[in-house]
Amino acid sequence: MNKYETLKTYFGYDDFREGQADIIDNILSGRDTLGVMPTGAGKSLCYQIPALMMDGVTIVVSPLISLMQDQVTSLVGLGIKAAYINSSLTQDQYYTVLRRASEGWYKLIYVAPERLDSDVFVKTACEMDISMITTDEAHCISQWGQDFRPSYLKIPQFTERLPRRPIVTAFTATATERVRSDIKHQLHMKDPYETVTGFDRKNLYFEVRHPSDKIHDLLSLVRKYDSEGRSGIVYCSTRKDVENVCDRLREEGFSASRYHAGLTESERRHSQEDFLFDRVRIMCATNAFGMGIDKSNVSFVIHYGLPKDVESYYQEAGRAGRDGSPSDCILLYTARDRFVAEFLINKSFEESSLDTQEAERIRSRDMAKLRDMVRYANQDGCLRTYILNYFGESGSHSCGNCSYCCSDTVLTDITTDAQKIMSCVYRSGQKYGISTVANILMGDGSEALTSRGLDSISTYGIMADSSRRYIRDICSRLEELDYITVSDDDYRIARLTSKALPVLRGELRINARVREDKAHTAANYDKELFLILQELRSTVAKVNGVPPYSIFTDLTLSEMASKCPTDARSFARLSGVTKIKTERFADRFIDAISEYKAGKSRDKALRQGSDLSPLLKIKDSIELSDSPLTVTTFCERAIEKSGSPVKVKSLRDAITGWFVSKELLTNSHDSEGRSCKAVTDRSAEAGIVAEHRVGSKGREYDRILYTYEAQKYIIDHLDEIVRFGKEVKNG
Ligand code: ADP
Ligand code: ZN
Repeated sequence: MNKYETLKTYFGYDDFREGQADIIDNILSGRDTLGVMPTGAGKSLCYQIPALMMDGVTIVVSPLISLMQDQVTSLVGLGIKAAYINSSLTQDQYYTVLRRASEGWYKLIYVAPERLDSDVFVKTACEMDISMITTDEAHCISQWGQDFRPSYLKIPQFTERLPRRPIVTAFTATATERVRSDIKHQLHMKDPYETVTGFDRKNLYFEVRHPSDKIHDLLSLVRKYDSEGRSGIVYCSTRKDVENVCDRLREEGFSASRYHAGLTESERRHSQEDFLFDRVRIMCATNAFGMGIDKSNVSFVIHYGLPKDVESYYQEAGRAGRDGSPSDCILLYTARDRFVAEFLINKSFEESSLDTQEAERIRSRDMAKLRDMVRYANQDGCLRTYILNYFGESGSHSCGNCSYCCSDTVLTDITTDAQKIMSCVYRSGQKYGISTVANILMGDGSEALTSRGLDSISTYGIMADSSRRYIRDICSRLEELDYITVSDDDYRIARLTSKALPVLRGELRINARVREDKAHTAANYDKELFLILQELRSTVAKVNGVPPYSIFTDLTLSEMASKCPTDARSFARLSGVTKIKTERFADRFIDAISEYKAGKSRDKALRQGSDLSPLLKIKDSIELSDSPLTVTTFCERAIEKSGSPVKVKSLRDAITGWFVSKELLTNSHDSEGRSCKAVTDRSAEAGIVAEHRVGSKGREYDRILYTYEAQKYIIDHLDEIVRFGKEVKNG
């Protein structure tokens, strides 16, 4: 298997994200590698894929027990042989893992750094075929990192005790030069390949609000997210705020939990698990919460207080949208928050044991960092650009996905309209300006178009319902996102880039913020079905004892709700779906989708009056007539009596069709060639008779009448007739 096949087979993804493929290639070529990627960018795959492709086992050093358990649980769920070794194992479990490890059973073993100088472990490790040793959260090895852990210094000693030097790799989200060189040095990396992936997370939407009533804004945000089935974190500055906000959310009926250092360990674990397992939707927390939380479906992070610096903000906000789906990062800021933040900084120095000069130096550094954070909160410009500049990257000045750049826009799946526009650009020969393209799409019948034959291309008029402003708006987004280029001169000629092709082929969807088009309804996934699938996911997760997001991410569910796969093959094509997941879960999800769809078409049939089933409930109250009736009269009486929304025509067609299927009637034509029914020699069995008539113009015909007996026959077989009507309708 090559790396793409491994990616799809084990993880269900079609493409690598920025930086991943390069890192993987370098590792596979045997080179030490240091990967710096922002939180949520996908560091784990960078070592997991080589681990799967190389012979032997990869040792992953990881700082947190919960993180290891999470990773191993999801790997095992993906059919990968993985285990962890940390203090949570019993003696028996520990020896079982070691035994299997020496038998070469695992592809990945996660270990806590403290284990690395245990003689038992080192002895087993020397018997294993170790292809790679990877250090996760590698900044922990640096004194300059935020979370220095002395036990990380055991890693190089361990590596040196092995009979054969494995490839040494390390990953972190901390980019400063100092930390990076420290990592390379401390881990004794040899000529490492080093890559720093851009810090931009395009799927995150940034917003700053200056509310006059914070809790009011918070509640209205949460209400909206909740109705969409989204899960998220509300970060507060103090424990007291966490308590208050959490209480308030609960009072309002939201499913919320809390997390801060003032709770007991077991309370914290409980509430963290409730959140991970989707038992609660909202986590109110101080910054103590989050390190090592790989919950991929956190789809919003609201800051109710001001973080102490931009690093912390970006790290906390970055916990949203790890699965790549559009997510919101919202800072609620009031001037008072600044004083709280300053107070907290000052307080931390009062309690510290640093000498005054040193303390003063650090304090003023922290205050400067806070000022940068406040500048973000008061930023009058693109928020993303501000953040990227802060980390030493340049932004585009207009990201199109922050509250500054899109003050009156909504995040929308614009794929369908993008396809229309790009296909129009293509079909008109990539030689017209944006305004002509818009004219073609809107189908304006102007001379300028008709004289050039542009009214005969297939995209002519396909966006007749959209406004010009909307089409231009989408074009700008497509240009910003690099799907089309627009010439710099007055002609503004549009051309497609290579990125356009996968969109046109339907392989890639585009989400972007656009101004709402009044004449436009967004092609989007079915929210109701999405909520049903979420529910099902929770049930399946509970049965399997794993967190729901490890079954499918929200992004996969929304794609499922929009594509509605009906068989395993189309199911397997959804992003994030692997072969194993298809085998294990496809049936249940497909069933739920088709059940939902059937319900919808039943509703629709009911609305249109073509569903006859309401009649079944009242069939005993339908009065029969002693004198023979035409089928139409019979139907009218039955329906009127029941007050049901069934249409006469639907019922009549079902009845006569069913009689034909039983050969109690037959299809025929009248003297003018119109189709009609006629009696057969068996009609009398069911009480159906034909009355010979002569019409006003001397035209002779048979009128088919239903005697009391025939009416009774219908009622007795109503179940069958209703079923027949439904089958005919469904083809
Ligand atoms: P990090 O460790 O960098 O914070 P993770 O490795 O936990 O990030 O990855 C974050 C999320 O992104 C995970 O849910 C992971 O499955 C997903 N992911 C990683 N790589 C890809 C990819 N190539 N395509 C789609 N999703 C990916
Ligand atoms: Zn912006």
